[in-house]
Amino acid sequence: MFAIGLTGGIGSGKTEACKILCELGAKTINADTFGHYIYEKNTTAWEEIVKEFGKTILDKEGNIARPKLAKLVFSSKNRLDKLNRICHPKIKNLVIKKLNQFRVDQVEVVVVEAAILIEANWKDIVDEVWSIESKTSIILDRVKKRDKINHHAIQARMDSQIDNETRLKNSDRMITNNGTIQELKDNLTEIWAKKFINTNKE
Ligand code: ATP
Repeated sequence: MFAIGLTGGIGSGKTEACKILCELGAKTINADTFGHYIYEKNTTAWEEIVKEFGKTILDKEGNIARPKLAKLVFSSKNRLDKLNRICHPKIKNLVIKKLNQFRVDQVEVVVVEAAILIEANWKDIVDEVWSIESKTSIILDRVKKRDKINHHAIQARMDSQIDNETRLKNSDRMITNNGTIQELKDNLTEIWAKKFINTNKE
């Protein structure tokens, strides 16, 4: 099995790229989904988060109100680091479990979509790291449209993530996503063919 770790900043196009790679034949794991899962009420992560940040981050039902938590952590690097120290190892374990399951199922190519792959030091669980990047102005337009959040909120997320230079240093491949979805598709299809189909593999 070959595991690709697909990473990139907010709105860079990870999910779109994953969809395309899935159409090309890969199985996918979305680490963000596991992120949601570990936040569930009364899990170990839930308990540790409430202990660290207080009950004000809960909604009436006792669930973690993600916008409240986001407001807290994206305005303080120290708080974000604390949250990451609680969540990242737990999410990593879930990803490893899923990768092992795919290995047993004899899956050939798996894509792990994870915004935090490099920051959280997950390079050891994949065979290659692929990063996706788009220009800041393009990301701002796309994310504003997708999430209906303002420029400042997006910028705060961007500032909390590693920059493209660090991503480049830690990646086996950089994929640029400044054009249309079709262009992204063409690019990925070519990469896929060279790597997994042609006898002349890279
Ligand atoms: P996040 O980390 O915030 O979840 P992401 O890296 O997964 O973001 P996507 O959700 O794939 O990014 O893309 C952000 C938005 O931009 C989405 O609405 C997506 O449909 C759109 N988008 C991505 N790539 C393109 C493209 N090449 N052309 C037009 N729209 C695009």
